[in-house]
Amino acid sequence: MIKEFIKCSVCGSETPNGPFGTIGDTWFCSVECFGILENEKDVQAANETQVGGNHYKDQTIQPWDYIISNKLGFLEGNIVKYVSRWRNKGGVEDLKKAEHYLKKLIETEEKC
Ligand SMILES: [Zn+2]
Repeated sequence: MIKEFIKCSVCGSETPNGPFGTIGDTWFCSVECFGILENEKDVQAANETQVGGNHYKDQTIQPWDYIISNKLGFLEGNIVKYVSRWRNKGGVEDLKKAEHYLKKLIETEEKC
């Protein structure tokens, strides 16, 4: 049975833009919005769990959320990651890893 479409919880559209449906009480209007919903669920779930300690979980803004939101590249992302966790995880070793990525980033930029 298909319930009457109400409003997309993702984009706010009041008419379906493709195959629509619900996940629990949350409506989606299209394949794209379904994808966004699924992705958010995964990110939320992933933020709740962490393999090998809780050195990221306790941070207000998790490095990967920051990295993704700001569309940082691989090298920048790793710098943020190591600089964010060094006190709780790898100590000065992590700072050296960050430095390594920073050197690589500078090298890459200077070649351009
Ligand atoms: Zn939508």
